[in-house]
Amino acid sequence: MIMKNYYITTTLPYINSNPHIGFASEIIRADVLARFHRDILGEKVFFNTGTDEHGQKIYDQAKEQKISTQEFCDLQVQAFKKLKESLNLSFNSFVRTTNEKHIKSAQEFWKICEKKGDIYKAKYKTKYCVGCELEKTDSELNDEGRCPLHPNKDLQIVEEENYFFKFSNYQQALLDFYKDNSDFVQPNKRFNEIKKFVEQDLKDFSISRLKTKMPWGVPVPGDENQVMYVWFDALVNYISALEWPDNQVKFDKWWPGVQVAGKDNLRQQSAMWQAMLMSAGLLNSQKIYINGFVISNGQKMSKSLGNVIAPAEMVDRFGTDGTRYLLMALSNFGEDVDLTWERMIERYNNDLANGLGNVFSRVIKLSQKIELSDKEIVEYIDKNFDLKLEKYQADFEQGRVEKLLQEAQKKVSEVDKRIEEIKPWEISKSEPEKFQIEMLNFLLKLKEIKEMVKIFIPETADKMEVMIETRDGEGLFPRI
Ligand SMILES: [Zn+2]
Repeated sequence: MIMKNYYITTTLPYINSNPHIGFASEIIRADVLARFHRDILGEKVFFNTGTDEHGQKIYDQAKEQKISTQEFCDLQVQAFKKLKESLNLSFNSFVRTTNEKHIKSAQEFWKICEKKGDIYKAKYKTKYCVGCELEKTDSELNDEGRCPLHPNKDLQIVEEENYFFKFSNYQQALLDFYKDNSDFVQPNKRFNEIKKFVEQDLKDFSISRLKTKMPWGVPVPGDENQVMYVWFDALVNYISALEWPDNQVKFDKWWPGVQVAGKDNLRQQSAMWQAMLMSAGLLNSQKIYINGFVISNGQKMSKSLGNVIAPAEMVDRFGTDGTRYLLMALSNFGEDVDLTWERMIERYNNDLANGLGNVFSRVIKLSQKIELSDKEIVEYIDKNFDLKLEKYQADFEQGRVEKLLQEAQKKVSEVDKRIEEIKPWEISKSEPEKFQIEMLNFLLKLKEIKEMVKIFIPETADKMEVMIETRDGEGLFPRI
């Protein structure tokens, strides 16, 4: 049998601030997808994440704190690396864009596009939002002439001679590619959005800055006065992670990959990066999953509104698995996720403490009355276990990982209902045979539930397995 290879990557968050909940939600979805392909489909998985460490914001902030920019990056990156443990993530690659190998990769990429004739120098004047690290045309600004995502930040007027990438060369090629790959961007409404964007006149975008104004970037090959502008450097991480271009074997093994991003990254991932790949003569990405934002009570989270929910706070309150569960269960892939503490606590208690946790405690306790050995019970379960999770592949292909959680919760309700119906505690003496059959079936159901949730809450799933095998234990999710 040929083992399939699956490469998945998140975007690389800016390290100018601590990891926010939107990124936590993005990387947990990527982790669940990675675990589905690894643990359920039995594929080989390469899972990449990392940090974007160049750009104006990072440079300014280090200056403010009076430390070197690299020192600032080295401090900030810790919070992102810690996510691996606190959110139990299974990534096996972490790219820092200030890493020497990545820098070399980005420069090689530049040289190939330049040779192709897709990079040229031109005078340039534009409005620029430091918040987005994106140039803004007037049509993208709000009525006050400000960035709608960063209305409190003044737009910069950038006027200098820079290098440009001939995005306009790739309009038709991109549209053809989209046509041939009808599920390239998920969900569909985001795919339609990017198609519309590419159908308009594609404007070449600037890919460098004057070093005198912005020294913190990858040096442009052959021009010591310019550094690469963030995207042209950062996007290359998806292949520098595979040691492109030095390790062709590794690159061919894993590329093309699947990318998970937020909706503010739609254009960069599904158009700009794809055109860059075409220019470099490399295969396009396989698929782009676009998440909605995580908001609170209908509003964007912001320090000034005081409604920021940090991933670390969630972990303190709900534990690692509680956090992983809530961020997936409360989401509807592609839509914004509206989180409040009240909503999360309610859902935690309903689904986990009173639902999943309670059904395990109940069944395990009742099962202690079965007059069979643990070994006989485990044998029964193994013999009768026939759950095929591969059937959820279509949902996973569309990014809708939460569907499997909903199905698991249905099963929890079914078990609960059946317990109430047959009242095992009443029949354990009067109808011992029926009791045994029913109880074995309940344990089998627990095993199925465990299999269904294990890619979402892996640590708890291990505890569930022990509970089933030993008929002992309780309190998977204490009530809050
Ligand atoms: Zn902005």
